[in-house]
Amino acid sequence: MTTAEAQPALDFVRQIVAEDVKANKHAGRVVTRFPPEPNGYLHIGHAKAICLDFGVAQEFGGTCHLRFDDTNPTKEEQKYIDAIKADIRWLGFEWGEHEYYASDYFQQLYDWAVALITEGKAYVDELTAEQIREHRGTLTEPGRESPSRNRSPKENLDLFERMKNGEFPDGSRVLRAKIDMASPNLNMRDPVLYRILHATHPRTGEAWCVYPMYDWAHGQSDSIEGITHSLCTLEFEDHRPLYDWFVEQLGIHHPQQIEFARLNLTYVVMSKRKLLELVEDRHVDGWDDPRMPTLCGLRRRGYTPEAIRNLCAKVGVTKHNSLTDAALLEHTLRDDLNKRSPRVMGVLRPLRVVIENYPEDQVEELEAINNPEDESMGTRTVPFSRVVYIERDDFREDPPRKFFRLAPGKEVRLRYAYFITCTDVVKDENTGEVTELRCTYDPATRGGDSPDGRKVKGTLHWVSASHALSAEVRLYDRLFTVPDPTGDKSGKDYREFLNPDSIEVLTDCKVEPSLGNAQPGDRFQFERLGYFCIDRDSSDGRLVINRTVTLRDSWAKIEQASSKK
Ligand code: ATP
Ligand code: MG
Repeated sequence: MTTAEAQPALDFVRQIVAEDVKANKHAGRVVTRFPPEPNGYLHIGHAKAICLDFGVAQEFGGTCHLRFDDTNPTKEEQKYIDAIKADIRWLGFEWGEHEYYASDYFQQLYDWAVALITEGKAYVDELTAEQIREHRGTLTEPGRESPSRNRSPKENLDLFERMKNGEFPDGSRVLRAKIDMASPNLNMRDPVLYRILHATHPRTGEAWCVYPMYDWAHGQSDSIEGITHSLCTLEFEDHRPLYDWFVEQLGIHHPQQIEFARLNLTYVVMSKRKLLELVEDRHVDGWDDPRMPTLCGLRRRGYTPEAIRNLCAKVGVTKHNSLTDAALLEHTLRDDLNKRSPRVMGVLRPLRVVIENYPEDQVEELEAINNPEDESMGTRTVPFSRVVYIERDDFREDPPRKFFRLAPGKEVRLRYAYFITCTDVVKDENTGEVTELRCTYDPATRGGDSPDGRKVKGTLHWVSASHALSAEVRLYDRLFTVPDPTGDKSGKDYREFLNPDSIEVLTDCKVEPSLGNAQPGDRFQFERLGYFCIDRDSSDGRLVINRTVTLRDSWAKIEQASSKK
């Protein structure tokens, strides 16, 4: 690994764990878990939880379980399970033998529900979901009891068993805990534990037609696995009394739940439901669209696991919800890519340049440095010949002041090659568009060095026309036009803020021939243009390249500005 990763400071979660270990709580053991619901792909918010769950376990010599909270068969699929596992491994974490599924505990959870019913602490209710909501009351008004609430345990046991046996249709009955309809905490107002769902489960098949609610399954699954520190996001703080109530009633191991703030990033949405909408409504090209904040999208775009882990370390673990500037993620990304990416030359919008005094059939192999940040990456040769392409933007017929690139009569350096001077401009007769430049070169400047101390201000990237490979390059911009698309004060739907220009596809790009062997996933810096990654749409004879990020680091500027203050 070439990247020095930021060491996570002892945040409040790690402080608690450190104290517990010191006090020999749980016999000094640390067992955490990452509990995804297999109903979508992981996003960068999940990465924060993964880094914390696995990170804490690693740092304290403990273990971290991967547990799929697969309690909703209508939304969950094996493909998500596989993708989640691949993404966690890509991020750099491993759970070994500790792969678990809430569905493995369905029988135990059922038996515990029966135990609660027997003790008069749970009951079967015929109210509809709508009625249950109405009865629940509000933060200022207590709830109302269901007419079924005081049914005898015997009757409840019979009904629950018949629910399990498939005698009743979906939605006709639920099992509820009997706690307190007047509790100030709405989660304690007789929460639903089981619902009827005649659905095929990816793992248990047809075995069950009652399924535990997340709230009933989650804490008990933690308990079964002997989790010591159950780390979850802040919205579960209000659920903690309920989880505590369950394990106390059942008299089983009591994991300690600790809540931390979610990661939110500017210019994206992070909820799985919204990401699914973007995919289904075709606003993006699938879950791994390089504009998505999903781990598979970021990977396809060219992000490194190190950059993502480093972002999580920099953001830290706190109790306050906040919005992290996407520029910070781009900063950790550039920082990492700068060290590891080989430099190559590619031209996005080619302009033909004919070097008139360069011999027709001559080709020179010129030496180029692969990474000025890392000498061990060595050098390569790039072919130079009479006709090259430069970037259209690097030429102005009528240059403004301080335009140090090419213009009629001006001299510039072609990187690693020669100084050239523009002598003539060829235009399309009809449109007036510049189609070709005529130049001369100075043979004494081979390698790009001036023999007589003559200075040129501009250094351009280029490719040899007859050697270049054609490529499609996809440039990306932010997916949304506002930093917080779901937080609009006037209540506009987040989709109204989709950026219509979030992707630009350039089909006529030219890249140096060394890219001929590049494989999907390979990363490069195109000199002066940014960091790029070979896309999986590439195949024999077709080169598709994503721009991961430009070279301009707005975060570094923000940091500089604030350190000057
Ligand atoms: P979403 O709200 O995007 O649908 P979720 O919380 O329902 O996500 P889960 O699969 O249940 O998705 O999440 C697994 C774990 O990841 C949970 O412990 C959850 O708290 C955590 N997590 C989800 N989103 C974030 C986030 N933005 N930041 C930190 N942790 C997160
Ligand atoms: Mg969840």
